[in-house]
Amino acid sequence: MADLATKIKLKDGHEVSLKGWIHRLRKLGDKYFVVLRNSNGLIQVVANGKTVTGKLDVEASISVTGTVKKDERAPGGFELHAEKIEVIGESAPDWPFHRYKSVDMEMDYRHLWLRSSKMQSVFKVRSTVLSAMRSFFEKEGFFEVSPPIFVSAACEGGSTLFDLDYFGGKAYLSQSAQLYLEAFVPSLEKVWALTPSFRAEKSRTRRHLTEYWHLEPEVAWNNHEDNMDLQEKLLKVAMKAVMEERQDVLGDFEDRSEVESWIKDKWPRIRYDDAIDEVKAEFPKIKWGDDLGTEEERYLVNKYGIPVFITHYPRSIKSFYMKVDEENPKVVLNNDLISPHVGEIVGGSEREWKQELLLENISMHKLNPKDYAWYLDLRRYGSIPHSGFGLGTERFLVSILKLEHIRDALAFPRFMNRVYP
Ligand code: ATP
Ligand code: MG
Repeated sequence: MADLATKIKLKDGHEVSLKGWIHRLRKLGDKYFVVLRNSNGLIQVVANGKTVTGKLDVEASISVTGTVKKDERAPGGFELHAEKIEVIGESAPDWPFHRYKSVDMEMDYRHLWLRSSKMQSVFKVRSTVLSAMRSFFEKEGFFEVSPPIFVSAACEGGSTLFDLDYFGGKAYLSQSAQLYLEAFVPSLEKVWALTPSFRAEKSRTRRHLTEYWHLEPEVAWNNHEDNMDLQEKLLKVAMKAVMEERQDVLGDFEDRSEVESWIKDKWPRIRYDDAIDEVKAEFPKIKWGDDLGTEEERYLVNKYGIPVFITHYPRSIKSFYMKVDEENPKVVLNNDLISPHVGEIVGGSEREWKQELLLENISMHKLNPKDYAWYLDLRRYGSIPHSGFGLGTERFLVSILKLEHIRDALAFPRFMNRVYP
């Protein structure tokens, strides 16, 4: 948990006024021991009953005025000796986490659980990750754009598509902004967007949400190799920002020193063919043409202990927009990036930019070219080579923080059985 005194640089003898919430409360005789929480972290406050106006309860909001005292025994090395505690908003005595804690409670009372140290720390890291990525794109000359969420056709396959009644017609919730980002390419060349993506995932896993935050760049002239270079650079920048700027909260997670080597070392790039051979050692039944599942990804990533690119997947198991490899038309110029503790965090590819080949892919994947008429137009007017990828921001957090489950990477996670609160 972040230590408030260090964060705001309190010194022995300082007179301060702090506002916040009562995180923990203990009464000993006429003395109150209050752990005050605000967005900077925690500090212990010692108060005499006489100095208090209002009713103290866990989660009451308070304003405290007092003197900072150095105290080796206090967490963070400082205590605040209160001269005045004023209750701003009382708290009902039935704070749910008084009774007990469980994963279900953390989900049912998510709106209150956001105040926990664990959630506070995750959101600080999340914010650092997003701002590091945003400034990376700015420095690299990208434009941030805002694609639609209501869409007319699938991008990543019909089985996970949410459909809805759109004034008597049909529309879908976006699974990925990619096709729209491609429309920006002839206008802005280097673009990116952070949008919610929706997947009607019927399975319960520790890495699938039905709504997640998808970060997607799309870049003119980049080939498949450039595309992987960009992924590695972007993610290393975000990892570095976390390791350098978020030491205040990293103590709330398991030891994360392995991330230092993820930042330092080059990430291996292995072909799907070779990946299949490697996993055969553990999963003898797997054959060429099968997708790599969670177990296979875990096996590979544990073997390397660092994020790994897997490239050149069979055309038949990947999306219609991926460019076929001219040297081996059975595979596409794509990559998945698999990362420790979660598996796939990025899917990327060079896009098929020639109209006839794209039409061939559309028919091979048994899609209706009419649904993609506007997308095909992009190939009719000055088409160019380009590449891009999609990063699941929650999966990235699971990996770098070694979270047990994707639910803890997001404030209000949605699953098949959960849209409340
Ligand atoms: P998976 O095979 O794990 O379901 P996918 O192949 O469907 O993933 P893509 O369609 O390539 O994933 O999406 C790009 C990225 O978006 C993924 O690499 C992942 O980080 C993220 N992502 C995809 N589906 C989900 C989901 N249901 N919940 C959270 N993140 C997701
Ligand atoms: Mg999926």
